[in-house]
Formats: sequence, structure tokens, C-alpha cells
Amino acid sequence: MSARPRSLPPPPRGRPRRAARRLAFDSGHPPDPELLSDCVHCGFCLPACPTYQLWGEEMDSPRGRILLMDLAAKGERPLTAEMVAHFDACLGCLACVPACPSGVRYDLLLESTRQQVQRRFRRPLGQRAWRRSLLTALPHPVLLRLGALAAWGAGRLAPSGPRRLPGGLGAAARLLPLPQDPRQLLRRLPTPRRPESRVRMRVALLGGCVQRVSFPAVNEATAVALAAAGAEVQVPPGQGCCGALEFHAGEKGPGLRRARRLVELFDDPQVDRIAVNAAGCGALIKELGRLLEGDDRLGAAAARVAAKARDVSEILEELGPPPVLHELPLRVAYHDACHLSQAQGVRSAPRQILKWIPGLSLLELAEPELCCGSAGTYNLTAPAAAGDLGRRKAETVLAAAPQVLAAGNPGCLLQLRSALSELGAELPMVHPVELLAASILGRGPGGLSPSPPGW
Ligand code: SF4
Ligand code: SF4
Repeated sequence: MSARPRSLPPPPRGRPRRAARRLAFDSGHPPDPELLSDCVHCGFCLPACPTYQLWGEEMDSPRGRILLMDLAAKGERPLTAEMVAHFDACLGCLACVPACPSGVRYDLLLESTRQQVQRRFRRPLGQRAWRRSLLTALPHPVLLRLGALAAWGAGRLAPSGPRRLPGGLGAAARLLPLPQDPRQLLRRLPTPRRPESRVRMRVALLGGCVQRVSFPAVNEATAVALAAAGAEVQVPPGQGCCGALEFHAGEKGPGLRRARRLVELFDDPQVDRIAVNAAGCGALIKELGRLLEGDDRLGAAAARVAAKARDVSEILEELGPPPVLHELPLRVAYHDACHLSQAQGVRSAPRQILKWIPGLSLLELAEPELCCGSAGTYNLTAPAAAGDLGRRKAETVLAAAPQVLAAGNPGCLLQLRSALSELGAELPMVHPVELLAASILGRGPGGLSPSPPGW
């Protein structure tokens, strides 16, 4: 393993817990040896991997990481700080999964590895505290609102001060949306809606945690679009975070605790579909049948919830175009969120709902599979690497010269807004369903702004 490239976060100065000094992994769901042995080390996945593209470092490629997992799983290497740095540098974007001709399930291998690292590696205090505060605040709309309010206040007192802070704090200040009007932070989830025509489907809407605070208009637009397409939209009260942020960071216990609460709330025989409009949440919820399989109390309910969960674009595609759509003459670039395109395989549905809109021209970005660097909390824990990827993605956006950028994940929208603003550019950024709702309601392009107003 050679010297670490510059944009990588510094290697953790932490140490393995006592037991992990001899054996890297414990017996609690380590990476499956059969899955590890599926890798034939051909290297076809390397060009697809953003961290390999950035640094050209074998151990920061899928093949290199799988080799490290294999050595650790066989007990041939302890869990070293350097090894953890290579695992931490992985975005979890899963671009390597479809690129692999042998069908290696890197997603499952990474899931197990992240959980082992969380259990068996002790990070330095500062890192632990930062990660803990992120995983406490982000899934919690009240704390997130307080953070956004503090950022709004600080932004008014010293407009660029907090953004110059070093490391993750500065990244958080750059990423946190600064609402024009703090009252926007108090907006609640949409109220239930019925279609004007016959009810063709009953849909429960998941409002998300980051989504409802940072982009509340997306939830409103989701309800508008679904109702216009013939769905009765229910919004289960008392819903919280689905646990995706924690689960994808390796915090299996807290993540699945939140997921169980969601399953109890959304397992309703009267509901045909569960609409998710944040890619990271959808990627977890669709997996809940597998993840809670052994749960005597909630295993069957989790399988039902997972089977009904869809990205909102998939539900709209199933329902077909709403009967009335107004012209929206805009050039719109669509960015594939990794947790939607790679983790869920949803690529055509968001494009399809945009193509329904009369007058809209859909633009494709170069390198569509390349992650923008958002990746859950990656842009807050590895801001330098995420910044490099964000800039690269922002350049492809500017090259396409769109009037609006659309993406199906709040993390990507925040990351790309920050990356574009560093390049001195500002674009209205929306979820595809917001454009469809604008077309349904007859709102012109003037209704779209970098912080879209309410519907
Ligand atoms: S993960 Fe797949 S593509 Fe990559 S080296 Fe292994 S077998 Fe080849
Ligand atoms: S998940 Fe993404 S960053 Fe990680 S190894 Fe695969 S392609 Fe590379």
C-alpha cells in the first residue's frame, strides 16, 4: 500500500479494538467468503470506480478493497488504520456492481465490512464525535432545522464566515441550505390528497428527514403529481427517518431500529404503493425484506413494505401521464443519483416523467455513472475527495448548458449546488417530480429558483 493521495482524508489515527488486532472481523455477519471468491480480479470494474479514477490507487478500487476484505476475512491481516482508510474512502456509489461481468455483489460485501469496521475499529475522538453528531442531527428533522436556522443566522451576520471553516464544519456550512425565509423551515409534510377522478391506486408518501427540511417543496410536488395521475395520497402521521443514513454508515443497530418503526407505520393492507422521493431512503427500504428476514415480529411486514416501496417516478410511470400538462419550455439536465440508478436500477422512469412535459428538452450529462461525491455523509466526512468529485460533476453540468438541473436525491442537490457555486455558477435545482408538478399546475419557468418556492 503506497502513500495516500492528497485529496483523500488523512488515514485514521485510530486503532483496532483489542480483539481485532488478531482477527480483523468477528463472526457477526462478516463479508461472505463465497461472495468474496466470486471476484476473479479481472479489473473490469476499475474504470467505473470514482476513487480509482481520482487517485489511480489499486487499494482504492473495488478489486483492491475486495482483496483487503478477503485478507481480513481469512485472518491474514488485522484491521489496520490504513485498511480502514481504504474502506472509508469508498463512496458506496455501487458503480462497480453493474460494471462487473462476474456479478460480484460488492454492495453486500461493503455492507458487512462497514458494520465490522464500526464495531471493531476505534477512530480518534474528533472523528468519532463528528460522525456521531452527523448521525444524530441529520436523521432528526428538529435538530436539522435548528442547524439550518443557526446557519441562516450566521449567514446573515457574516455571509461567508462559516463557509471558510476547515474540514467537515466548512463543508456542512457550504452544504446546508440557507433558506431565504426561515419560515420555510417550519413547513410540515403535505396533507393527504384525493384525485379529482377515480382512485386508481392508494399511495403512502414517505416524507424523509433531510428531504422535509431541505426541500419541503419536493414532498408537496410528489403529492400533487401522484394525485393528478389518479392516486389517493396518504401521509402517515408521526413518520421519522427510515434509518438509511445510519445503516449506510455501518450503524446497523440504530439504522434498523428506525427502519422497524417505519415498517410498523407503513405496513397497511389498504396501501398499494409506498412513494419514496429520496434515493438513499428508497435503496434501504427496498432491502428491508432481506435485512429483517429473521425478525419474528416484523419480518413479514418488512417484506410487504419492501415489496410496495417505489421511487415516485416508478409509480408515476406505472400510472401514466397526468391528463393535463402545461408547456414548460426548459432545457433540463438530469443527474443520476447513485442510490437510484446503481442501487435500485431506476434510470428510465425519472427521464420518462420529464419527457411527458410538453416543451421540455432533456439533456444528458457526460459520465452519467460518476458519483457527485454526496454519498450519504461522505461529503461531510471526506470533504476533499467529495469536493474533487463535485467539481468534476459540476463541470459536466455546465458543459451541457441546461437551464435547470434535476436529480432524485436531496444529498445530490445539496452537493451539486455547493459544487456549482464554487465554480461561480447558480442553477435552479429541482427533483424531477417538481417539474412535473409545475407542468400540472401550469407554473412557468419563472416559478423555479435555486430555493424553489412552495406549491
Ligand atoms: S469485482 Fe468484478 S470486475 Fe472487479 S475485479 Fe472482481 S470480478 Fe473483476
Ligand atoms: S462503491 Fe463506488 S467508490 Fe466504492 S469501490 Fe465501488 S465504484 Fe468504487
